[in-house]
Amino acid sequence: CENVYCKKCGSKAVIRLPYANLTLCAKHFSEWLETRVEKVIKEYKMISEKDVVAVAVSGGKDSTTLLHILKGLSERNGFDLVGINIDLGIDNGTKYSALSTELAVKNFELTHVRYKVIELKREYGFGIDEAKLKARRPVCSTCGLVKRYVLEEAAESVGANVLATGHNLNDMAVFVMSGYHTGDLQNLARLRAVSPAENGYIKKVKPLFLTSEKETATYAIVNKIPFIMDSCPNNPSVGGPTSDKLRRLIENTEDEIPGFMVRLVENFENKIRPFFEDLPKFNLGKCKMCGKPTNNDREICSFCALKIKMGGDSKDVVAK
Ligand code: SF4
Ligand code: ZN
Ligand code: ZN
Repeated sequence: CENVYCKKCGSKAVIRLPYANLTLCAKHFSEWLETRVEKVIKEYKMISEKDVVAVAVSGGKDSTTLLHILKGLSERNGFDLVGINIDLGIDNGTKYSALSTELAVKNFELTHVRYKVIELKREYGFGIDEAKLKARRPVCSTCGLVKRYVLEEAAESVGANVLATGHNLNDMAVFVMSGYHTGDLQNLARLRAVSPAENGYIKKVKPLFLTSEKETATYAIVNKIPFIMDSCPNNPSVGGPTSDKLRRLIENTEDEIPGFMVRLVENFENKIRPFFEDLPKFNLGKCKMCGKPTNNDREICSFCALKIKMGGDSKDVVAK
């Protein structure tokens, strides 16, 4: 920020945070964000001392920032940290997945966090590029399904009891707004900062759910964290054009009404979502192939169904 000075020390500011009435230099902003994330983790009981936390790192600014902040906290608070990256097999001439994985690994090494990379194609027989051609659904919906399933499995395989992801405030605000807009209550009910371990699922936490994209990007840049700047070649289809417009609407509103996003998401989490806890839950069954939960009366889960479509493991099902 030009001619703007840190409120704490008077040196040149790198960020202006109108909703907190703050301008901060690199050092004081980093301290401020680390303290804030630590407070969120404590307040929402995301992580405790004896936990083994798997952190999902894609190589982007949010997840790499999360890794660095969690590393610092793990040293002070005693929990164990393991990094996870999925090489999704997205290329399309861009080497997107290869680069993302390379940056995730670079950050695991920089932070000295032990880690596991899951190469989708090698472990499960297909990558997202192939699924895009074969699975008859939007590529980002397939990719989301794959990420949820594989992260869960990877977290368990490294002995973690908590899975942390880098969803930021802007993502959360868009989810809340599109939930209101479409009236999809089940989706809103599932939108949680902390999902407890239940129905065979691991506990999942979003420590950056009140941290904006501007804040994660600034943290990554001022701390010289290497992250991938390119976006996925499938990016225009994330959530579709409506969700893009909602994102712009929300971000413009934030400029007009500083603090809008934090209040929207915090009030949703604390005051509104609890009402959804009484909604009738999906009737969860057990997948015949992998044993993970399935929706309603399906015999196999969506991930195993996808695997079959992609040409793997169909004999297993027949045999059962
Ligand atoms: Fe996956 Fe879509 Fe995100 Fe690309 S943009 S990583 S395909 S969800
Ligand atoms: Zn300062
Ligand atoms: Zn399954």
